[in-house]
Amino acid sequence: MAVVCYIGLGSNLGNREANLRNALAQLGECEGIEVTKVSSFFETEPVGGPPQGNFLNAAAELRTTLSPEKLLDRLQEIERDLGRVRTVKWGPRTIDLDILLYGDAAIRTERLTVPHALMHERRFVLRPLGEIAPDVVHPVMGKTVSELLERVDRADP
Ligand code: ATP
Ligand code: MG
Ligand code: MG
Repeated sequence: MAVVCYIGLGSNLGNREANLRNALAQLGECEGIEVTKVSSFFETEPVGGPPQGNFLNAAAELRTTLSPEKLLDRLQEIERDLGRVRTVKWGPRTIDLDILLYGDAAIRTERLTVPHALMHERRFVLRPLGEIAPDVVHPVMGKTVSELLERVDRADP
């Protein structure tokens, strides 16, 4: 049984657009993962971390038969393959692939928090996600993606 999930993508090092496209292509080639929707690419200013270049952010809808942990393994392999090096927390990166939602699962382990712990307060996540999944409900907040986006826009216009 495939589960519908959503991932967030971000890049602010190297050829950002190529990094996002390569990550999506590699995801599509993984066994047990089908990429079913991709948002536009949004130019966004960095939030948190050291001073660094603007990001290109996107969101994608996947259908997967992989468990959340296996999906995270695949995402981290792709990050490594695309040359991501972890230096400082929230520092610049060639690619960041985060699991935003995995069906309506709520998961909290050492490696994985789903829904992503900060997605509901990040405009750079909610804007692309709102383009492909406005009516999907955040299982913990009990609000749709468009409602969460409106809330963030109201709080910090
Ligand atoms: P943020 O989580 O604030 O977006 P980040 O994406 O820069 O920060 P990373 O360095 O990519 O953080 O990942 C740090 C760790 O976060 C990973 O090793 C992973 O185990 C953990 N993690 C927890 N929940 C998730 C999730 N939903 N998606 C991806 N990684 C997660
Ligand atoms: Mg992230
Ligand atoms: Mg990450």
